[in-house]
Amino acid sequence: MDFIYLLQTLVPSSSSVAILFSYFLYLAIAVSLIPGKIVPGALLSDGSRLHYRCNGLVSLLLLIALLGFGVSIKLISPTVVADKGVELLSSTFVFSLLVSSVLYIVGQKSQDHGSSLKPHVTGNFIHDWWYGIQLNPQFMGVDLKFFFVRAGMMGWLLLNLSILARSFQDDNMSQSMVLYQLFAALYILDYFFYEEYMTSTWDIIAERLGFMLVFGDLVWIPFTFSIQGWWLLRNDVELTKAGIIANCLVFLIGYRVFRGANKQKHVFKKNPKAHIWGKPPKVIGGKLLASGYWGVARHCNYLGDLLLALSFSLPCGISSVVPYFYPLYLLILLIWRERRDEARCAEKYKEVWAEYCKIVPWRILPYAY
Ligand code: NDP
Repeated sequence: MDFIYLLQTLVPSSSSVAILFSYFLYLAIAVSLIPGKIVPGALLSDGSRLHYRCNGLVSLLLLIALLGFGVSIKLISPTVVADKGVELLSSTFVFSLLVSSVLYIVGQKSQDHGSSLKPHVTGNFIHDWWYGIQLNPQFMGVDLKFFFVRAGMMGWLLLNLSILARSFQDDNMSQSMVLYQLFAALYILDYFFYEEYMTSTWDIIAERLGFMLVFGDLVWIPFTFSIQGWWLLRNDVELTKAGIIANCLVFLIGYRVFRGANKQKHVFKKNPKAHIWGKPPKVIGGKLLASGYWGVARHCNYLGDLLLALSFSLPCGISSVVPYFYPLYLLILLIWRERRDEARCAEKYKEVWAEYCKIVPWRILPYAY
């Protein structure tokens, strides 16, 4: 009986499909209509650039205000997203499968020679479907890669807020829940505040759009990064004052390194002469930054992100490994990604990269790796 019930919940329900499409519709309208800073993307190999409208923060705040209004007039339930969690997960998963397949077919047929839409086909179906065929596919003028990552990050916050409402309704709000919610909300709001920095990240500049990114953005980010919240709905944790202070410190240090490193790289790409930590930057071969966090370790930004991920799980204590899913996954992902990025940079920058590696020998974790 339970098994049949589980199977039924895994089938996308019409209400979860309606929620998902209303959400995408709102985002598509917001992306196109709400004013925002237009940021030029990285220079592509054919000399062209995409331009991104960075209006994510306003779009998110407006969405929260609209949902809050809907809740206040009892039009929607504040726990609807948490209540329909499994159905929404299955609808989003099926949607990712469909979108990746459409991207595969459209990519295969493309005759475009520009860097954004030129098809990269290996002939291996699994590989091409998984990694994608085109760099920057669009739908009705909307850049899909930028759109999906935005949908995933906003979805994570909406899911968390709904979990928070459920915790409030169930009268089991805990310090742990407040800490997790606070850290995750700050991280997500900060992400949108600095959304323009996304335009120079690996996913946007180097990764093609296939199942890996579509699933990663739409399913993985919201549904697995919120595991701590789900877990805290059913588990009690006693936190000590010292534990809370240590947890806040891990968050603050992680944030400083993460935001500082990403900001330094972004600023350097725009203006290679801009001062880093109050001094002129050390630049290798006119192309690579070896000052600030980028002079402490290569991909020091990953270290900051790992500390942040840890800070999201520490409120759950150490009685279970389940809430540590996110930092453990991120550790594996970022070690793998660092290796792929090293290979890419070694090929792109050649002897300049080799010199950078000599000057900055540490990877992610200074003095250890
Ligand atoms: P980076 O932002 O580190 O970008 C890598 C690129 O930066 C390289 O390909 C190269 O590009 C350039 N670069 C590398 N070293 C230098 C240097 N010393 N000087 C100048 N340019 C350099 O990678 P990601 O996009 O992977 O990460 C961005 C952020 O997103 C990170 O903080 C990461 O932790 C986070 N992230 C989070 C994930 C999550 O699930 N929470 C998943 C993935 C990333 P170029 O060719 O332009 O020079």
